[in-house]
Amino acid sequence: MNLATTDLDQDAPIFAPDAFRLNDFQVELIDKARRFGKAKLAPRAAQHDRDATFPIENFRDMHPEGLLAICIPKEDGGLGADFQTYCLAAAELGRYDGATALSWNMHVCSTLWSGPLADDLEMSAEDRKAHARRRSQHYDRILKRGAIYAQPFSEGGAAAAGTVAFGTEARPVEGGFIVNGKKIFASLSGAADYYGVLCTERAEGEAASRRNTLYLGIPADAKGVSVVGDWDPLGMRGTVSRTLLFKDVFVPEDAMLMPRGVYFQAATRWPHMFLTLSPTYMGLAQAAYDFTVAYLRGEVPGTPPVKRRMYPTKQIAVAEMRVTLEQTKAIWFQAISEARANPTKDQVLRAYAAQYTVMENANAIAVKAIRTCGGQAMLKSLPLERIYRDSRCGSLMLPWTAEICLDRIGREALYEPGETDE
Ligand SMILES: Cc1cc2nc3c(=O)[nH]c(=O)nc-3n(C[C@H](O)[C@H](O)[C@H](O)COP(=O)(O)OP(=O)(O)OC[C@H]3O[C@@H](n4cnc5c(N)ncnc54)[C@H](O)[C@@H]3O)c2cc1C
Repeated sequence: MNLATTDLDQDAPIFAPDAFRLNDFQVELIDKARRFGKAKLAPRAAQHDRDATFPIENFRDMHPEGLLAICIPKEDGGLGADFQTYCLAAAELGRYDGATALSWNMHVCSTLWSGPLADDLEMSAEDRKAHARRRSQHYDRILKRGAIYAQPFSEGGAAAAGTVAFGTEARPVEGGFIVNGKKIFASLSGAADYYGVLCTERAEGEAASRRNTLYLGIPADAKGVSVVGDWDPLGMRGTVSRTLLFKDVFVPEDAMLMPRGVYFQAATRWPHMFLTLSPTYMGLAQAAYDFTVAYLRGEVPGTPPVKRRMYPTKQIAVAEMRVTLEQTKAIWFQAISEARANPTKDQVLRAYAAQYTVMENANAIAVKAIRTCGGQAMLKSLPLERIYRDSRCGSLMLPWTAEICLDRIGREALYEPGETDE
C-alpha cells in the first residue's frame, strides 16, 4: 500500500510544522508516521488489546516503509532521523496504538543508541572502528531482513532504576560471552528476532560494577533463551512483555551493540536517552483530547451524531484538557529539542520534568475525557477506554518513573554533585 497516495482523512499533526519550526525532512517523515498509524495501526489495535497479542503485522508493514530503520543514518541506508525527529514521529504512532508505538521504541533505541548517540561519545579509534563494523551487521539485519529488536533491561530489582549493576551477567570466554540471567517485562518477547540485553560483564572473582555494563544483541533463537510466564495486564497489552530467561547463552563478541564502557558513558553523559519512552504517551494525550472534541461534536464514527458541546460544563472540561495538553506539548517539545551529550543541569532537570509531565498528564487527560464524554464513550467498541488504560502505564516505566523523576528533581535542585549536609 502506498501511503503517500492514499486518500486518508488525515488528522492534523500534533506539532504544527510552522508553529514548531520543523524542517521539510521532519514534516515528510512525521506525515509518513501519521498516515501509517491511521491506516495500519488504528484498525488492528483493539483486537490485539483484547487478546493481549503482539501486532507482528504492524512491524512487517513498517519494513517496506523504512520505519524499522528510522534512526539508521541515511548513508547506511536508513531514514536518518535524529533524536527530535524520531520522538515527533513516535508520538504520531502513539496516537493510534500506544502498544505498538512503545514496542517500536524498544526496537528503534537499538539503532538510536548504537548510532547517532554513540557517535557523540568518547571511544578509542580502535573501538570506534570495531563499533562501526559491528553496527553495520546490526543495521543490515534490519534493512535487509526486517529484523526486530527488543530492549529487555528490567529485572525486578534496583538495576533498571540505575542504582546497582545488572544481575544478568556476561562471563567473558574465548570469542565472546556466556550470558545468564532473567529479564522481566520484556516487550516484544517471543516476537523479536534479537534481544538488546543490558548485562554486567564479570570475569571470575571480579566484583559487579555498573561501569562494566554491556549492551548485547542476543538472537532470540540462541540456545538457552526462553520466554516464560503469562501476560494479562491492565494496559499496553499488545506489547506482550513477558519474562525472558538466559541460561548459559553463548554470544560472540560481535553481539556488542556498544563497545565496553560506552553504555555507562551514555547513561551519564546522554541522559535524554531515557526520554525515549515518552513519545508514545505524548501521542496518547493528544488522542484522548481529540476523541473528546470529536465526541462532543457528535463526530465519532459508530456513535449517534448527538452533539453535547453546548453545555458549559463540557466546554470548561475541554478547556482544562486543552490547557493541560498545551503545557505538556510545550515542555516536551523543549526537552526533546535540547537532547544532546553533556546537557546542562537545567536541561537534565527539564528532561525529568518533561517525562513526569507527559506520563502523568496523558492519563489525567484520559481520565477527564471519560468523565466528560460519559458512559457511552467508555464502551470497548471505542478507543477511549484503551487509551485510558494504556496511558496509566507511563508513570511506571523505569528508569524514569514519575516517582524517580520527582525524587531526582528535588535532590538535584537542592544539592550540587558531591554536596552533603555533614
Ligand atoms: C507495558 C510495559 C512495558 C514494559 N516494557 C519493558 C521493556 O520492554 N523492557 C524493560 O526493560 N522494561 C519494560 N517495562 C518495565 C518497566 O520499565 C519497569 O521495570 C516495571 O514496570 C517494573 O516495575 P516494578 O513495580 O517491578 O518496579 P520496582 O523496581 O518494584 O519499583 C516500584 C516503584 O518504586 C519506585 N522506585 C524504584 N526504584 C526507586 C529508586 N531507586 N528511587 C525512588 N523510587 C524508586 C518507582 O517509582 C517504581 O515505579 C515495561 C513495563 C510496562 C508496564
